[in-house]
Amino acid sequence: MTRNATNTITPPYVRFNPHRCKACWVCLDACPAGAIGKISFLWHRHAVLAKPSACTGCLRCVRACPAKAFSPITTKP
Ligand code: SF4
Ligand code: SF4
Repeated sequence: MTRNATNTITPPYVRFNPHRCKACWVCLDACPAGAIGKISFLWHRHAVLAKPSACTGCLRCVRACPAKAFSPITTKP
């Protein structure tokens, strides 16, 4: 578990870029671990890695997201 430039916790397997997110919520159904949650205010909506410690690295979110907001972490910091 590491902290990224925005000081949010990142699981060891995937990075998430909220600026790419279109709030379609496909990834919430795709994640079998329930690691992904929602930020859902009227003008501020995007997915969030709400439970990074639950992430198993299955990468289903990477494959499911049409906006390519998730990317696999392939190298250790
Ligand atoms: S699938 Fe991608 S665009 Fe849709 S809510 Fe998840 S991160 Fe955002
Ligand atoms: S890699 Fe798998 S377990 Fe981790 S957030 Fe993505 S879909 Fe969920």
